[in-house]
Amino acid sequence: MERFAAKNTGAHVTYSGPASVGQPLDQYQRLIESLTNHAIFSLSADGRIATWNSGAKQTFGYDEHEVVGKNYSLIFTAEDIASGRPGKELRAALEHGKESVDGWHVRKDGTRFWCTDTVQPLRDAGGTVTGFTKIVQDSNDGHLASERLRESEERLRLLIEGVTDYAIFSIDLDGCILLWNSGAEHVFGYREAEVLGKHFSLVYTAESIARGVPAAELAAAERDGHAPDEGWHVRRGGDLFYASGEMTRLKPDVDGKPRGFVKVAHDITARNEAEETNKRQAFHDELTQLPNRAFFSDSLRRSIARAKRHPTSRFAVIFIDLDRFKIINDSLGHVMADGLLVHVARTLERCVRPEDVVARLGGDEFAILISELRGTVDAGLVAERVQAALQHPFDLDGFEVFTTASMGIAIGSSTYDKPEQILRDADTAMYEAKERGRAQHVLFDFDMHARAVGLLNLQMDLRRAIARQEFCVEYQPIVSLDHCRVVGFEALVRWNHPERGMLPPAEFIDEAESIGAIIPIDRWVLHEACRQIHAWQVQSGDLTLTMSVNLSSKQFAQETLLAEIRAALQNNDLTPASLKLEITETVLMEKFETIAATVAQVGELGVELYIDDFGTGYSSLGYLTRFPLKVLKVDRSFVSQITSNPRSAVVARTVVALAHSLGLGALAEGIETEQQLSKLQDLGCELGQGFWFSKPVHADIAQHLIGHVLPLHADAPAA
Ligand code: C2E
Ligand code: CA
Ligand code: CA
Repeated sequence: MERFAAKNTGAHVTYSGPASVGQPLDQYQRLIESLTNHAIFSLSADGRIATWNSGAKQTFGYDEHEVVGKNYSLIFTAEDIASGRPGKELRAALEHGKESVDGWHVRKDGTRFWCTDTVQPLRDAGGTVTGFTKIVQDSNDGHLASERLRESEERLRLLIEGVTDYAIFSIDLDGCILLWNSGAEHVFGYREAEVLGKHFSLVYTAESIARGVPAAELAAAERDGHAPDEGWHVRRGGDLFYASGEMTRLKPDVDGKPRGFVKVAHDITARNEAEETNKRQAFHDELTQLPNRAFFSDSLRRSIARAKRHPTSRFAVIFIDLDRFKIINDSLGHVMADGLLVHVARTLERCVRPEDVVARLGGDEFAILISELRGTVDAGLVAERVQAALQHPFDLDGFEVFTTASMGIAIGSSTYDKPEQILRDADTAMYEAKERGRAQHVLFDFDMHARAVGLLNLQMDLRRAIARQEFCVEYQPIVSLDHCRVVGFEALVRWNHPERGMLPPAEFIDEAESIGAIIPIDRWVLHEACRQIHAWQVQSGDLTLTMSVNLSSKQFAQETLLAEIRAALQNNDLTPASLKLEITETVLMEKFETIAATVAQVGELGVELYIDDFGTGYSSLGYLTRFPLKVLKVDRSFVSQITSNPRSAVVARTVVALAHSLGLGALAEGIETEQQLSKLQDLGCELGQGFWFSKPVHADIAQHLIGHVLPLHADAPAA
């Protein structure tokens, strides 16, 4: 009973000081003394420390004798003293009977700690205040620390809970989520319970994580205090959205210990939509909805970078060009052709894995990027799959359309630096596939590259050659086979290449045709040859001398050809009969429709047409009667074997006979021996040319052959 009374008032214990402690109080004193993790001490009414238990010693580091009689403000921080906290605490305790406060206290060694204080006034039997008791609970031990954190987080939670359009969450130093507001639930779609303790990177895309974005963000926030973040994030369920936000480092606690980070993020997908549309337009092909060339290059750039990081990783580019798309376009019209392109786009998409990229590079060109290649054969398999898929006819408005494609494959590796390089190689291989007859795929190799580079150089050189007048003409005499006398010449172009020397037409004519350079070349040869034959006619007085000029099919497709020929004749004072134009049999056959009109007009002009390389083309004789032709030139391949191969002899005889029966002349090309000559003479072939008489020669030499019987060494002088 006494014990309870003593305890209830506590008066004797604390107020009278240790000296006056009686027996029952002594026990109480010992109890208090034994509480080592609770600092319990008493104060006099004016705030001086009266008693000091062992918990207080342990908590504050002061011994009893150091503090007893001193003002209790010595355990407060300077700021709290300045703000009058010690006095306020006591007044509040008086007012309310008890005061509990959280706050900082300072130990003897100057370190601070967070604690919860409870202060109660002590009164004597008459109710007069005689002093105070104070219990200090140091929150810095494990359980209490998390308790405190929970409490402070509770406050933070209340503060930020109302925010719903901004995600706010806090994470610890390792990036694990501690706090998740309703804004975060709204923005990221996860409820708090699902994410607490999880790493915050769960809202980042796999690609960002692979690039180390979350880790870099933490590091930057740690270093600079805050780190801005803008980019794609993942909502629960996998939807992507674009967010802008910032990671902020929390102020370290009073002991300087880091406390973690807070992240605020805002969904700005909507705001970005306009930008996105722009991006889509910049990266997408409107017609097929496939990524475009820019997008493809971008993906390629990333693949190259990956290959550089992991040199064993391989990728492949398949360059796809539809075969004869132009014909479809011309015959079925643009709308149908567009429909075909869209069908092709969908077909290609079905032939690849989701991680591969299918793009339309332009026109009828597509490309596939195979991002992870296990073996080279894999790329070939994809190409085969594409080829097979394209062979199924598409139904375009009731029309069945199908197409084939030529494909070039380049295997990507760390040796490539730029997207253009690998695209170029795949393109080169694709051309090779076209050359080999279309509807197939070809794997790029480095010889192809060398050839392609050679071709490119040739094209550039050709364009310059015209301006620099690097072309010249050689003349090969044409003789009448009855007397072997020179009756005219064939003009044969040469290219005096600044580095490679004199080049024969075989080295450049095809290329010149393909880039259109043949037109100015042929035009120049025509004028030059006309100028030359006029000079020789005047010089020799023989106005029957003729000049044969070769024309490419391109030339015949030019509307200006007729005017060109007229000008060449007029400028050089020539009669139309002096000029012969040679056109190959193949051209006449293949380009029949486009050149028919021009050929007819040339005939009306009085300029004779020779059919070159006769016998090498398709055997359709119908056209022979439809054109104003004058001479068939028996191809050299028959002439060269006319004495050795009976079949060639038959063809040669047939051609000569055919010419005659159609009322045309025959000219044998490539006569190299006397035997060949006599055989052709026997067949009644009127004209001939060939090395037996003379090689094509420079004009200076050619002029000495005029009026002579050839060959010169066969001692038959001129008339
Ligand atoms: P082509 O019109 O059939 O010209 C005859 C070719 O046979 C010439 O080759 C000539 O040098 C060669 N040749 C003549 N006689 C003999 C012989 O006895 N034996 C052998 N082995 N060859 C002989 P070249 O000058 O190399 O011309 C090749 C082709 O280039 C020409 O074939 C012609 O199709 C084309 N070409 C030449 N000049 C021009 C031109 O100015 N314009 C166009 N478009 N093509 C030209
Ligand atoms: Ca010719
Ligand atoms: Ca020929």
